[in-house]
Amino acid sequence: MQKDLIRHLRDPNLIPPEKQTLLSSIAGQAAAMNMPCYLVGGFVRDILLGKSVNDLDIIVEGDAIQFGESLVKKYGGKLTPHTKFRTAIWHLAPDTLDLITARNETYINPGALPTIKPSTIGDDLLRRDFTINAMAVRVDGEHFGELLDPLNGQADLEKKIIRVLHPRSFMDDPTRIFRAVRYEQRYGFILEHSTLRLINSECFAILNTLSGQRIRHEIDLIFTEENSLKILLRLSDLGVFNRFDPNMPKVNEKYLVLQNSIPPAEFAISVDRVLLGYLLWLLDSPVEVVNALSKRLDFKSELSKAALAMVQLKNDLISRKDFKPSAWTIHLEKIPLAAIYALWLITNEPALKEFIVRWRHVKTKSTGDDLKAHGLPPGPRFGEILSQLRSAWLDGKVHSFEDELRLLETLIR
Ligand code: ATP
Repeated sequence: MQKDLIRHLRDPNLIPPEKQTLLSSIAGQAAAMNMPCYLVGGFVRDILLGKSVNDLDIIVEGDAIQFGESLVKKYGGKLTPHTKFRTAIWHLAPDTLDLITARNETYINPGALPTIKPSTIGDDLLRRDFTINAMAVRVDGEHFGELLDPLNGQADLEKKIIRVLHPRSFMDDPTRIFRAVRYEQRYGFILEHSTLRLINSECFAILNTLSGQRIRHEIDLIFTEENSLKILLRLSDLGVFNRFDPNMPKVNEKYLVLQNSIPPAEFAISVDRVLLGYLLWLLDSPVEVVNALSKRLDFKSELSKAALAMVQLKNDLISRKDFKPSAWTIHLEKIPLAAIYALWLITNEPALKEFIVRWRHVKTKSTGDDLKAHGLPPGPRFGEILSQLRSAWLDGKVHSFEDELRLLETLIR
């Protein structure tokens, strides 16, 4: 296994060559400073699974800021130190790298953020969420490739199980419930049975005391995953959403499966994956629920605006059915494109597609200068006339520049 690990660490298909160079620089410098240095967490998990990795999580037994400063001296770049936690970010274009001082954490109150003290790698692994994330590979000098696995994470990877490190884990930090299910569904693993039993009403009660921002962050991470639908379904089955807030939207499979669809080329739009995930999840919710969730989960304003506009538009879609293209366009221009796209995915309403593909691009040929040339003094009439000309194009009343000029003259008169 040790040999496999070293082979994987040198495999350009798993770690791109530029990251390998970065890693040797770090390893060399750590050896020169006699500072034990490790890759940890998701990196080790994924490399053992033979998956490609991009993020290097570096931990040193020693002062990560001092280590970072020596790296800058030798290899250049810039360091952003965080003195409180003795961590640093090393910016070496095009990369940024987190350098962390090995630490231990104590949870004084369940659900509260932990108290942190510099410590050993052994303690650092003990503060982690699951056994499969609690492994480290040493990289400095002759220690290169040594695996530290005090909690038998490798065996759990082989058994394909997600296991917490101790029975209070979900009480200390109930966001780990979301993380557990995310890994379970991502890798096709299963929650180990005593870990599963720990997801109970006691930790749900603590989950309810967490800030909206912490929970929303976990939901954001779910929507970045290809398997977001399965993750949400599993969390629903475990009662997580319902216990958190009975008004949480139900997970509609038919909607959420569309998160992985790519807008047709003729739409000429790109929609953020996470934003689309939320919109499809909220699509059937009443306006009041969207408002309440937006507050509770501390939605960013882009999401809040799009979700609200989408459910309002959905509610009056039928009453707008016979609207002319110009009326649709004037209305839809006030709504974020992602919201219109999400609603189109579900309803197939032709007007929404027409708006995205054609109507929003329709412009008049005349400009303010043309209006001035026709002797019209600048003022509010300018905007009104240009908007009437555009509506005429949208509604098929003009088809050419000559038609537009004729209409312009009539309007001015
Ligand atoms: P992913 O592939 O999802 O990014 P990752 O393991 O890199 O996985 P991060 O969220 O970047 O995940 O966290 C890095 C490491 O920090 C994890 O592997 C885990 O060891 C630890 N960690 C992160 N969040 C927690 C938490 N809430 N409780 C305990 N340990 C955590």
